[in-house]
Amino acid sequence: MRVVLTADQVAAIRAHAQETFPEECCGFLLGPEADDKLVGRVRRAANVVAENRERRYVIDPREILSVEKELRGSGEAILGYYHSHPNHPAVPSEFDRDHAWPWYAYVILSIMDHVPKDLRAWSLEGTDGTFEPAFLEIV
Ligand SMILES: [Zn+2]
Repeated sequence: MRVVLTADQVAAIRAHAQETFPEECCGFLLGPEADDKLVGRVRRAANVVAENRERRYVIDPREILSVEKELRGSGEAILGYYHSHPNHPAVPSEFDRDHAWPWYAYVILSIMDHVPKDLRAWSLEGTDGTFEPAFLEIV
């Protein structure tokens, strides 16, 4: 999978991660529906997980539905999700894998002591649904 973000979108993800540090931030990647994920814009979401917010995020399914409803007929779709890993590498956790779906792009930002570090993209591949690195391009 190829994921394309603009420098402004990366800056927005970094700013979000700094605001919620040491807890995880999360949000949507929106754009035209296609195999190549050319992100048109990023949109913040609320992390509604009750426990271990430094290591986990969950987006309320009602928020996902409302975004999908809003996008209906617009030519844009949810292409994937971003979230931060405070004081942790930009590698999906077991929890991430259990809560991920095929086709979507998963962008993870590592943020160490408030300083944004690695940004990496992942997708679920194969019948066993393991995370594989996606090709992330920043334009
Ligand atoms: Zn994660």
